[in-house]
Amino acid sequence: MLDDAASRRDLIKAVAQEVIDHAEELTALDQAIGDGDHGVNMKRGAEAVLADIDNLAEKTLPEGLKAIGMALVMKVGGASGPLYGTFFMTLGKSLPEEPAPADTVAAFEAAFQAVMARGKSHPGQKTMLDVLAPALECLQADPSASAALCTKVAEAAEATIPMLAEKGRASFLGERSIGHMDPGARSSALIITTVCKTLGA
Ligand code: ADP
Ligand code: MG
Ligand code: MG
Repeated sequence: MLDDAASRRDLIKAVAQEVIDHAEELTALDQAIGDGDHGVNMKRGAEAVLADIDNLAEKTLPEGLKAIGMALVMKVGGASGPLYGTFFMTLGKSLPEEPAPADTVAAFEAAFQAVMARGKSHPGQKTMLDVLAPALECLQADPSASAALCTKVAEAAEATIPMLAEKGRASFLGERSIGHMDPGARSSALIITTVCKTLGA
């Protein structure tokens, strides 16, 4: 799994395309509780990754993830660029070239911790962490439970709707942030679901 350039290329392409296909939805979510650019930001990052896909896929899994993280920091911008960038760079730094399931869980945990440190945030504040945290729990319970993980992250993104935003631009709205899904939670769920579906296919 992911031990050849073709399979890495397929995964990168699937995730980037999913983000691009959902850019309008992500922007609409951010229009409700932010500045309306999350879809545009994420699409810019995905397009930068696609433009370099052959080079990225030729790299080893850890090096490719680090390079994707750096591209996201540079191209996505906003709050989400450094946070997603940190996530992917830390995954790359933590994963061995041929990861066993336990390595993947450990790397996901390290990446999740790094996002919390970078964002000075924690789960419960209506952010992407409210999807990443349950995803980590699901992986820890069973690293191969890909269907369960897809269900869990979809539910977790929905569960941000009644939450009060305490971080990022949505927090400026106070109580008015309640009743809308967090855009970063939705993009995290899309990315994780696509990884599961592509690797499981
Ligand atoms: P910006 O808010 O700077 O315009 P984006 O719209 O691209 O950036 O991304 C917004 C998303 O980033 C939010 O929906 C939230 O999930 C996430 N986010 C913002 N601040 C934080 C933080 N401190 N910790 C974790 N996630 C955050
Ligand atoms: Mg925004
Ligand atoms: Mg912005």
